[in-house]
Parts: sequence; C-alpha cells; structure tokens
Amino acid sequence: MARFSRAHNKSAASPLQPSKGIGSLIFHSNSPAISVRDSRRWKKPPTLRCGRAGNRWHRGGGLADAPEDGGSYDLVVVGGGIAGTAAAISAARNGLPVALIQDRPVLGGNGSSEVRVWPEGKTRQAPFPHVGEIVDELVPAKGRGDGHAKGGAIYADERKLAVVRAEKRITLLTEQRVTGVVADHEVAADGKMGSSNLWNVLDVADPVQVLKCKDKDALSLAIHEGAAAVPFPRCPWAVDLSTKPFPRRSPAGGKPAKNLRQDLGAWFWESGCDRDPVTEIEYIRDLNLRAMYGAWDTLKNVDKLYPNHRLGWAAYIAGKRESRRLLGDMVLTGKDFREGTPFPDGCFPCSWHIDIHTPDPAFDKGHPKGDEFTPTFTHGKEFTYKGPCWAPYRTLYSRNISNLFMAGRDISVNREGLGPVRVMKTCGMMGEIVGQAAALASRHHTTPRGVYQNHLAELLAMMARPGK
Ligand SMILES: Cc1cc2nc3c(=O)[nH]c(=O)nc-3n(C[C@H](O)[C@H](O)[C@H](O)COP(=O)(O)OP(=O)(O)OC[C@H]3O[C@@H](n4cnc5c(N)ncnc54)[C@H](O)[C@@H]3O)c2cc1C
Repeated sequence: MARFSRAHNKSAASPLQPSKGIGSLIFHSNSPAISVRDSRRWKKPPTLRCGRAGNRWHRGGGLADAPEDGGSYDLVVVGGGIAGTAAAISAARNGLPVALIQDRPVLGGNGSSEVRVWPEGKTRQAPFPHVGEIVDELVPAKGRGDGHAKGGAIYADERKLAVVRAEKRITLLTEQRVTGVVADHEVAADGKMGSSNLWNVLDVADPVQVLKCKDKDALSLAIHEGAAAVPFPRCPWAVDLSTKPFPRRSPAGGKPAKNLRQDLGAWFWESGCDRDPVTEIEYIRDLNLRAMYGAWDTLKNVDKLYPNHRLGWAAYIAGKRESRRLLGDMVLTGKDFREGTPFPDGCFPCSWHIDIHTPDPAFDKGHPKGDEFTPTFTHGKEFTYKGPCWAPYRTLYSRNISNLFMAGRDISVNREGLGPVRVMKTCGMMGEIVGQAAALASRHHTTPRGVYQNHLAELLAMMARPGK
C-alpha cells in the first residue's frame, strides 16, 4: 500500500520532479515518496506525502514539521488530464483505492474549459470495442461547430468531475500539485514544440456573440450593444508584428481568415521550440500571450481591420503538445506505425497521423531562434498509416522505476511516435489500460512489467469486458 501523509511543507529536493510540463505519472503501491503542494495558496500549503521514504522533511516558512496523515492508496495518479482521469476511474472500477491529484480546479487538462483543445482519436475500435468507453463517458461527442477555443461549456468540466465523484474509491485532490518524487533516476529534459495559448475574438456588433453584463462594475465587460466599433490599445510589451507576417494576416503571408472567430487563434499559436517545457513553461506561455496580443494589435491598429471585433477569450494556462517522455520496455517509433508492426500486447488504438510540429519558415524570420511561435506540421502520405494501430502495453510503464506507469504524452515513444498517440482520447484509452493493469498488479502482487510477462492474457481478457 502506498501511504500518504498530509503535510505542511515543501518537499525535499528530488531528482524526479513531475511538474507543470508533464502528462500523467501513475504510481502503483509501494510508491517512492511523493509530496504535493496546494497550488492555490503560497503560504501554509497543505501537502501530501506518500511512501516509505516519507521522513525527509524540511522545516521552513513557519510550517508544521510533521505531516498529517493523508490516507493509504493502491494507486496514485499525478495529473488529471483525460489520461490520468481515465486511469483513476478504470483502477477504481477494478477495485483499487486511488488518489487522483490534479493541480487545477477542473479535470481534463488541455481538454478542459481552461485550455479548450478539442479531444481527438477514435475510441471503441475492433477487436476491443470496449476500450474507450470510459473516455466517451468523460468527453461528449463532437457537435457541429465544436473545436478549439470555443465557448467553455462544450469542454464539459462538470461532466468529468461528476464521473469521478461518483467513484467511491477515488480520492480527488484538485488544486494540489506534486512537487517532488524521491527516486534514484535522473530525467533528461528535452524541450520540443510546443505549448500553446488558444484565443478567440468576437464581433460586438452581433448581440449573439457578446456576453451580457448586467452589473456595470469595474470587472464588467462594459460593452454597449449598438456601439459597434471597439478600439484596442497599442501593446508596447507585445511582440512587434507590425512589419511581420503571421497566420491569417493578409497579404503579407497568411491567408485571410474565412471565419475569424474560428480561425484566427487556432492551433498554430504555439511556441516553446526546444525550450524546456518544465523549467521554462512560464516564459513559453508569456511569449505566446505576447505574440497573440501583438497580432491583434497589428490587425486592429496597423492593418485597420476588424473594427467591430474584440478579444473574446484567451487561455492563460498553456496547453502542452510535447513534454518529457519516459522510457519503457519498448520505445514505439514512427516506423512502427508506417509498417503496421503487430504487437502481442497491443492495447490502445491509434488513429491520428504522424503529426510533428516545427517552426514554420514562412513566419519565423526576424524572431530570435527558439522564440518562433507559429509552426507547420508533418503531412502527406509518408506521415499516414493504415489504422487503427494498436500500440503496445510495454510503452505504458517505466523500464527502471518498478512501480511507475505512464499514460498521456509522457509514454515511451520517440518523437515521431508521439504524433499518433498524443491526441487526448487516445491518451484516455492508455489510462483505461493502466487502471486495469494496476488492478492486475495488485491482485497478483507483481509489477507493471510482471503484468506483461505473466498476466498478459488476463489483461487482454479485461480489455474485452465493458465499462471498466
Ligand atoms: C495547441 C494544441 C493543439 C492540440 N490539438 C489537439 C487536438 O486537436 N486534439 C487532441 O486530442 N489533442 C491535441 N493536442 C495534444 C493534446 O492536447 C495533448 O497531447 C494531451 O492533452 C495530453 O494529455 P495528458 O492527459 O497527457 O496531459 P494534459 O492534457 O496536459 O493533462 C495533464 C494535467 O495534469 C496536470 N498536472 C501536470 N503536472 C502536475 C503535477 N505535478 N501535479 C498535479 N497535476 C499536474 C496539468 O495541470 C494538466 O491539467 C494539442 C495540443 C496543443 C498544445
């Protein structure tokens, strides 16, 4: 059993620090120490700590010198994106007590109303049509016009929370961040493209698009319907794009937006090329915001376009496309997808193309290297494959930390291999499998690797069952 303690202090420095830039790390019982900090408050943060190495404790900041007991769990899921959330549900439905630790108030990660990326990937594919059922409980079917950077409600935050809260075996810890894990292994940070802040604009001349504010206080949007033109102040702190091309700027390089509300702040506002997504995520996020405001400033004040439009919404939480990947017993590659390599432990279906982003040469001139913010992506026949391709279970656990599962964009793939696996519904199905494998590991007192070596047939049988 992994033992948790509620603490009042920061963790000891740890060689392994799952932090803002990583997907879901999932620790099975006998976990190394994990310490968790309340991400809402800086002073007196309640923190959790688990594991047998739990006594390396710092005093400081007037905080208590002993941890409070936070309970015992068979599985600790760090990160409540679609992947981590599905893992927690699957494990709980298979009988395990689970802690799900999420540093935001909502679940879903990039697929939440905070980031507003639309979850893709085909679920419920043959020959295992039940794999993906939990994902489909969490994510509503895509409606007409649904997609990136739309109104917050379509990302269904409440729905995800309700599904988790209905599981009695899950202890949900929102607004808590894991700040350290004591382990013996170094992790190399390898930054790649990228992180993103999606945004949208709306037309104030169209009453349907404008939020109605009854209270005319300082925080109201103070939009008077009928007064259509809205000015926008110059932004000296933004990236100066007045003489540079950027997507959807016409005629300097981009195509004119056909649907301004939908097209302008889409997936291509993305940066972080080769910057460390863990230690530099604030810089990357701020660069995105500066680029976005620079673009809107240029469109409104230099190109004199869109007089009736104002910024409608912008993500202040950066969505991540790539981050650290951990090595498992197998490293899945782009070649495996192209050649359709069959795996005896194929356990989650991949359907997205080999989609890798790099800075777009059409837009990077004049920006410092590493500070580009508009990507292009791999496309064409050589980046497609005959799908769905069932990816191996051996990508979902660590090769050298015996009780660590991975699910999400942190799994064991090379960079090309990440392209097909990282879409959110596919990540969610990894979580479903991890939850099942964790239950098997508990039942047979074995490790994630032991499940592959000795209980694969049982895992495949579980995958064939509905709802778990
Ligand atoms: C601009 C952009 C466009 C994209 N387009 C698509 C698309 O169209 N469709 C699609 O499906 N995917 C798309 N992706 C990729 C996809 O969003 C990610 O690969 C996916 O979100 C990974 O899922 P995840 O659950 O691993 O991580 P995330 O969705 O990032 O969720 C992880 C969660 O864990 C939390 N967390 C992290 N560290 C800690 C910690 N230490 N303690 C506690 N909590 C923590 C984070 O706050 C986050 O909420 C896009 C990504 C970007 C950036």
